[in-house]
Amino acid sequence: MAETYKMLIDGEWVVSESGETFDVINPATETVIAKAQKSSRGDVKKAIAAARRAFDNGSWSNKTPGERAQVLWKLAELVESNLNKFAKLESANVGKTIKYARDSDMPFIIDNLKFFSGAARVLEGKSAGNYSGIGMSIIKREPIGVVAAIVPWNYPLYIAVWKLAPALAAGDTVVIKPASRTPITLLEFAKLANSLLPKGVLNVVTGPGDVVGEEMASNEDVDCIAITGDTSTGKEIMRLASKNVKRVQLELGGKAPFIVLPDASIDAATEGAVVSAFWNSAQDCTATTRVLVHESMYDDFIELLVKKAKKIRIGDPADEKTDMGPLISDSQRKRTEDYVKATIAEGGKLLCGGARPENLKKGFFFEPTIFSDVKQTMRICKEEIFGPVLTVLKYSSVDDAIEKANDVVYGLAASVWGKDITTLIKVANSLRFGTVWINEHGVLVSEMPHGGFKQSGFGKDLSMYALEDFTQIKHIYIDQTGLVRKPWYYVVYGDKE
Ligand code: NDP
Repeated sequence: MAETYKMLIDGEWVVSESGETFDVINPATETVIAKAQKSSRGDVKKAIAAARRAFDNGSWSNKTPGERAQVLWKLAELVESNLNKFAKLESANVGKTIKYARDSDMPFIIDNLKFFSGAARVLEGKSAGNYSGIGMSIIKREPIGVVAAIVPWNYPLYIAVWKLAPALAAGDTVVIKPASRTPITLLEFAKLANSLLPKGVLNVVTGPGDVVGEEMASNEDVDCIAITGDTSTGKEIMRLASKNVKRVQLELGGKAPFIVLPDASIDAATEGAVVSAFWNSAQDCTATTRVLVHESMYDDFIELLVKKAKKIRIGDPADEKTDMGPLISDSQRKRTEDYVKATIAEGGKLLCGGARPENLKKGFFFEPTIFSDVKQTMRICKEEIFGPVLTVLKYSSVDDAIEKANDVVYGLAASVWGKDITTLIKVANSLRFGTVWINEHGVLVSEMPHGGFKQSGFGKDLSMYALEDFTQIKHIYIDQTGLVRKPWYYVVYGDKE
């Protein structure tokens, strides 16, 4: 029987005020695998109040960075010893392949917890010194307070950890909401975390974004709201957050270009494009969505690309041999189908895919799809789909490629492929994206920041920059004269006595 999960509020596992729950579905089988609590605003307020109390009583924020580090490290070890269980749950809930969940998501989550465990111990202010000539200035980094975090469904535990690990390492308390489609692994993770953290330091609430998420964004006891999600959701969060001028961290949509220069290896670039376009069923804000290929190699490139895409084994994500699972939901698949239909109507040439696999009657599967003969002005080249659809555009000059690559409202990630380092660097410098990979696409590491330009948001996940997002800077000034003089304003403005 499907487990009914409770929510974690103030160290206790509780049901929603209304007693209502919602179903959690396996997108590969369309069966109910769990139930979760449907929170009201009242439930969220309780969780935020608990986080506020826990922050104000100093049970976590007053611990030394070293003490907090020990807890985060222990949590990493607990996840490590439950790695297979987490990978199976994530695979069943998101539909991502078991090999991807087990060999990529989980190791990265563990590494991320360990990174932030150590990183908070070496947090730095810029400098300290006697700048006034009569006193000492110190820069101090302090936790920001109560952090509310909203997580999407494409990387449920992975992105949750990106937010909560730096926040907890910094000494903040947290209220976190998983996406309603994928709450399971975060709730399981919270069971482990709750055994290590003081009560109220980590709270997990489940329920609809337009209720739970909106309360988190607007509540005046929250000091910082962080979200990964759609750009339209990010805009709404900014509006709500203005109520108490809370800190906002946004990781939003993407439309990653993949530029293939004339001297690129066709074999390496086609391999890179297929993997980075279709991993996680293309439900990835950094996924390759637009390949820009020089006209001199366009036909050869397309032929090899399509050949490789057709080899992708689509099916049961629990099977070790599967390369690509289903999309998260029927609505996400319909959205993908609508883009495919619109592109065909606008004159795009469908090279492969474009349909539901005939042999898979259950589950929200959709074939890897590639279009050529598209124009940069088409919707498919401008808007985020979050489905397995890749376009290949021809360009004539490097400047033309750069212009087309930058011609979107997003600016999260991009890549450029080739051999001549001068041209590669020129392109990397000209791309208005937060990450540019050269001869690679999609590599993330705990030490380096992940975050966008333009409407892909602001603030950074991962790295020391994420710790900056979840801390605030204080200037402390200490008089060095021992008050053997008049206060500074008499010195500056003169003695009026
Ligand atoms: P959303 O932005 O709606 O969902 C992301 C998270 O935000 C979920 O936890 C969701 O909760 C929550 N949320 C939704 N509405 C609000 C709100 N008004 N206030 C606060 N929180 C809210 O994305 P969708 O799931 O609707 O996906 C739509 C598209 O967004 C995708 O096709 C893709 O293009 C993009 N997207 C991008 C992601 C990225 O990694 N950058 C991740 C996810 C989506 P709930 O689940 O309860 O609705």
